[in-house]
Amino acid sequence: MELYSLSKIRKFIKEVEENPLKFWWETRKMIKWIVEPKDVAEGDPPKIKWYIGGKSNICWNAIDVNLDENKDKVAFYYMNENGFTKAITYWDLFYEVNRVSYLLKELGVKKGDTVSLLMPNIPEALYFALAIYRLGGIIAMHYLGLSPQTFAERLNDSGSKILVTASKGFRNGSEIRIKDYVDKVLSEYKTPVEKVIVVGRGFSDFNLVQNRDLLYEDIAPKGKIYVKPEEIESNDPVIIAYTSGTTGKPKGIYSSLAYIVASTWALKAVLGFREGEDVIWILSDLGWLTWGGNIHFIPQKRLTGVIFEGFIGYKRELFSRVIERFNVNLVWMPTTLLNMLKSLGEESVKAGDISSLRLILNTGEPLNPGTWQWLRENMPDVVIADSYWMTEYGFPIAATPFGLGEIPYKPGSAGLKFFGVKVVDDDGKPLPPNQKGYIVLSMLNPAMGRLWNDPDMERFIKIYTSRFPNYVYTGDYGFYDNDGYLYVLGRVDDIILAGGNRVGTMEIEGILVSNPDIAEAAVVGYNRNNNYRVAAFIVPKAGINISIDSVRNYLRDKGYSVDDIFIVRRLPKTKSAKIMRRLLRALLSNEPLGDISALDDINVLNELRAVINK
Ligand code: ATP
Ligand code: MG
Repeated sequence: MELYSLSKIRKFIKEVEENPLKFWWETRKMIKWIVEPKDVAEGDPPKIKWYIGGKSNICWNAIDVNLDENKDKVAFYYMNENGFTKAITYWDLFYEVNRVSYLLKELGVKKGDTVSLLMPNIPEALYFALAIYRLGGIIAMHYLGLSPQTFAERLNDSGSKILVTASKGFRNGSEIRIKDYVDKVLSEYKTPVEKVIVVGRGFSDFNLVQNRDLLYEDIAPKGKIYVKPEEIESNDPVIIAYTSGTTGKPKGIYSSLAYIVASTWALKAVLGFREGEDVIWILSDLGWLTWGGNIHFIPQKRLTGVIFEGFIGYKRELFSRVIERFNVNLVWMPTTLLNMLKSLGEESVKAGDISSLRLILNTGEPLNPGTWQWLRENMPDVVIADSYWMTEYGFPIAATPFGLGEIPYKPGSAGLKFFGVKVVDDDGKPLPPNQKGYIVLSMLNPAMGRLWNDPDMERFIKIYTSRFPNYVYTGDYGFYDNDGYLYVLGRVDDIILAGGNRVGTMEIEGILVSNPDIAEAAVVGYNRNNNYRVAAFIVPKAGINISIDSVRNYLRDKGYSVDDIFIVRRLPKTKSAKIMRRLLRALLSNEPLGDISALDDINVLNELRAVINK
């Protein structure tokens, strides 16, 4: 493919903005259709429908159409923290997915049914997910370790009669007793779950409840089976994922087949994958929509995926060893893990031979210039790329589309703002370059998700379009520069007042993290006894002692200051590893914590209280 220059990419983005429907019509070719759509769109946003009349099946796109020429090609590699590996060929995938499809069908799963997945990152997660798609079902994806009540609520919300899980999982050297947790949830709460399929993984130290639980290894059909893929329509839901819960109670979002079409285009643009060739590693647990990339585009584009079970920070050298082991070409990972690599030190990227690696794509939070700089210095031959998405949108809001062209990277920016993205003022008036405001999105995008259980889109309209009619509101604050690069300065809810100015958290955090001794930082404004104060929470790099005074001096040298500095071991994070600044603010101002269902580890709250009240 011809690579564009920056000006050519900007021209292309402008052309799409002028004639979006033309572009989206062309984009339908990203997947194979069983019945071709006859028109690009119908109706008005936000209730607009896409690819009218088109029918297809994602599992069929992923496996069946690729099978003849790729039987022996590896579709996925699996690896765990102890270095155990397994290769799954396209033929294996076809074989396993058909067996699971048969089983689910026998259990009554049909088109339009939701099936819940609560699983570690193991090959069976891929088989079940693809099998659900094969039957035209909807995946409801859940994080491990949610509070029992939250998980029960989500089972109810998704209406799944079938839950697929595993006996246990392994993370950071410990075992997670998943089945025990499921038993607890299902005995303490009322849910629609009738059958639980348990992938035993060779263990037997867990209970099987009669008439409810089925051990996968016992009931999996033997031998070669073929289950015909169901046709689904472009606007049919395919997957439900929850937003991260960074700013409030997580929202259940469903994405449709049309989303797969648009996001496949986007992933090609941001990863620049070579169809049929590249090995791609997505570092994501099940639950985060990003995990869906494994089933949405990797097999579809005849690539080889890597799934890793566990925590990549478990051993310093794991990250580079995985890349070396499978000759990984492209990595897609969350910001926190990139910060973690920096914190672990250069061995994390140098222990293994990473010469196969071309690009690392960041997603999740603004990538600090300090982290970017460190990654560049320690991996000079690897392109560090960025992409800014939200669960609801399913498409990059901004990105460095290295798959489209050779463009300059600007540290601190998430990349070029994509189609129809604007920065507006308090009244919703679009702002020119270099002025800070609210980031909003055009509603003309097939990747746009919808709220689950919101058939008339009443809740959607209220949550996303009432603040700025005609746009979808991101809740993010930022600006774009003269070249069209977007800078996310933070969440609007987290804006800090400094000397009468509105400052995004990123502006101060970015400076803190450029200090080589600091791994992570979170800055919040809060009220205590009617005084407004700004506090910075600092996580030093592994094995480093840092003093409050040295942080204060470092900030002062760069022209900034905060009222309070707290040195902590870790920050409160969501399951998708984002910093929950609202909890820091609530702790500091002695206010109720609000919804904490997305908090990764509740113990962090007491750790923080101890530091704050010292
Ligand atoms: P909730 O909506 O439940 O409060 P959330 O917004 O964190 O949680 P997600 O949909 O997982 O839920 O995350 C989307 C948000 O993540 C964006 O609105 C943005 O703030 C942030 N984000 C994602 N990627 C990037 C990136 N590359 N650069 C800057 N910010 C990013
Ligand atoms: Mg959000």
